Amino acid sequence: MFRKAGVVALSAGLLLTAGATGVMAGGSPDWAGPPDWAGGPGGPPDNGNGNQKVENVIYMIPDGFNADYATNYRMYKDEEAVWDEHMKGMFTTYSADSSITDSAAAGTAMATGEKTDNGVIGLNPEGNELETILEASADEGMASGLVATSTITHATPASFASHVEDRNNETAIAPQLLAGEVDVLLGGGKNNFLPESEGGNQETDNLIAQAEEQGYELVETQDALLDSEIDIEDGEKLLGLFADDALAPEMHRDNTEEPSLAEMTESAIGNLEQDDDGFFLMVEGSQIDWAGHANDAAWAMQDTEAFEAAVEEAIEFAEDDGETLVVVGGDHETGGMTVGAGENADMNVNPSVLKDVTATGDHMASELNDDRSNVNEVIETYTNFELSEAEAQTIQQADDAALAINTIIGDQALIGWTSTNHTGVDIPVYAYGPQADKFTGYLDNTDLPKIMAGALGVELGE
Ligand SMILES: [Zn+2]
Repeated sequence: MFRKAGVVALSAGLLLTAGATGVMAGGSPDWAGPPDWAGGPGGPPDNGNGNQKVENVIYMIPDGFNADYATNYRMYKDEEAVWDEHMKGMFTTYSADSSITDSAAAGTAMATGEKTDNGVIGLNPEGNELETILEASADEGMASGLVATSTITHATPASFASHVEDRNNETAIAPQLLAGEVDVLLGGGKNNFLPESEGGNQETDNLIAQAEEQGYELVETQDALLDSEIDIEDGEKLLGLFADDALAPEMHRDNTEEPSLAEMTESAIGNLEQDDDGFFLMVEGSQIDWAGHANDAAWAMQDTEAFEAAVEEAIEFAEDDGETLVVVGGDHETGGMTVGAGENADMNVNPSVLKDVTATGDHMASELNDDRSNVNEVIETYTNFELSEAEAQTIQQADDAALAINTIIGDQALIGWTSTNHTGVDIPVYAYGPQADKFTGYLDNTDLPKIMAGALGVELGE
């Protein structure tokens, strides 16, 4: 016994030494070390036990975000993210016809509790309509809202209030969102609501005019959104379409009149909370996924930061309200992001260098001249890096200049990528508020809306 204990103590000593060295090498981040409640009596913080009443659900979906993004983001920020302490479990994401899901099948699973084929929205593989958690909540008289930084007709928001065989058919999704009478719709994609005669994608219908007849107030700028106030109990609704297509990536948003994701979230909550029957709100950080497809680590971190500000709005409201359940979970991982890359003899990561990147790789590539001879100038305009001669040449000769730029910036941060598409890895779920602990453990993406429905006391799939 004594000998064994000695070995354990020795191993622990070695581990502590190694750990201490590691922390010194990488600097000593504030978030390192155990959470406040660890080791003490009483268990986790009192934010989710029992069967307390849930009046409202705020479902926050960072598209493409997984534990790899969470770790890099914590180091980027150099402290815990708002969701870290609310980590509950992990869930699988495979679709009905593929081990790797797209956002349509994932959104459908997370909205309806049923798996479907990739590309399909709100229908099962046989083509039958599936009821969504938003629709089930609305049936009980609750208010509802959808917020996104993509077009509002994009796969994830569409999965909560429309039913189409092909996610690309956004002109068919738009009228369904309005017919579903979602009380608050905020995002991009104005063109999907306007007729061709006005530069839009609808053949002849002007859905914005129809929406206004239905009681929607239209807002198109950040200022108009911040000034808007609707009376939900009186049947007023809010339609915010802030761009013809998607909103700008977070790092370019300042050059626009578009609101931030946090401002849209705050506005949605402020309007929806007036409904006496409670509300269901879905908020998507849409472009984390696009950053992942582009292998653009700076875009990924800065859009995660914007998403975190939106989650802070939701949790702040939930803390005051006491009857609001906030659930945060990505729909799948994108890009196979790594924490650490290359030979990396120092075994380090360096995401904070991404704070000084002020444009996406796509944007930088668009500013290259025909022979790409201005590559150094472009990179120095939008980053703090100076390219080596070899790196400049790599970008000049690359088939895909944006991908080459993003790879070189990722190398600086020691963030790697293994795919330009989605991956099939399990996803963490975070929850705060009454009944948050029901998300504990090993889950499937179809479990999430079922747990929400149970917590709200609404019947899903009737
Ligand atoms: Zn994607």
